[in-house]
Amino acid sequence: MLRLAGDPILSKVSRQLSPGEALPRALLREMRHALLHERGSAVSAVQLGFPLRAVLVGHTTRPASPPRLLLNPRVLARSSRREADWETCLSVPGLAALVWRPLQLVAAYETSSGRTAERSLRGFAARMLEHEIDHLDGVLFTEKAIPGSLLPVEQLHSAAIRDSVRERLLRDVPHASLVPESQRSAWDSADDAQGFPI
Ligand SMILES: [Zn+2]
Repeated sequence: MLRLAGDPILSKVSRQLSPGEALPRALLREMRHALLHERGSAVSAVQLGFPLRAVLVGHTTRPASPPRLLLNPRVLARSSRREADWETCLSVPGLAALVWRPLQLVAAYETSSGRTAERSLRGFAARMLEHEIDHLDGVLFTEKAIPGSLLPVEQLHSAAIRDSVRERLLRDVPHASLVPESQRSAWDSADDAQGFPI
C-alpha cells in the first residue's frame, strides 16, 4: 500500500541490501503497480512500506520498455551547478514545489543480477534519482522545497502561475538557473539516451 506523508515509515532510513538479497515479491508487485497506476516516474521501496534501499524507475516516454530496478543507489558526485524545478511525489498527493537539485550527478547502484553500474545523469534523470535516494534517507521533497513554493498540483498546469512563483522566489538568487519548459526532459530523452543498464 502506498504510504503517504505523515506516515512515520517515510522518515526512516532504509536498510542497505546484501549482495544477492532478493526483494519480497509483494514489494516488486506493489512498486510496479504504483508506477503503472499512479503514473509515477519512479518509486522507492519505502513508499510501499518496505524500508529497503531499492528504487524502481519507469520510462515516461516509452511505456513498453520494462521498469528498471536500482539496488543500493548512491550518489558519487554532484555538480556544483544546480537547477530549481518543480517536483511532485506519489507520497505527497496534490502538491508540487520547487526544489534545488544538482544539474548533473554520478550515481552507482547494483542491478538485480548483482552487477555494479555507474551512470552519469543530467537534468530530469539526475533530479529524479536524487529525489528517490532522499526517500531512502527518510527525506521528502517538501522538506527541501524552496520556502513559499508549495502549491496545489493543479496550478502547475498554468504556465502563468508557475512562472510568477518562480520569478518571485528566485529573483534574488545569484546565477539562479531556471529550467526552461522546452528543456524539461523525460527520463530517457536525449539527456539520458542510454537509459539504465541492467
Ligand atoms: Zn517521491
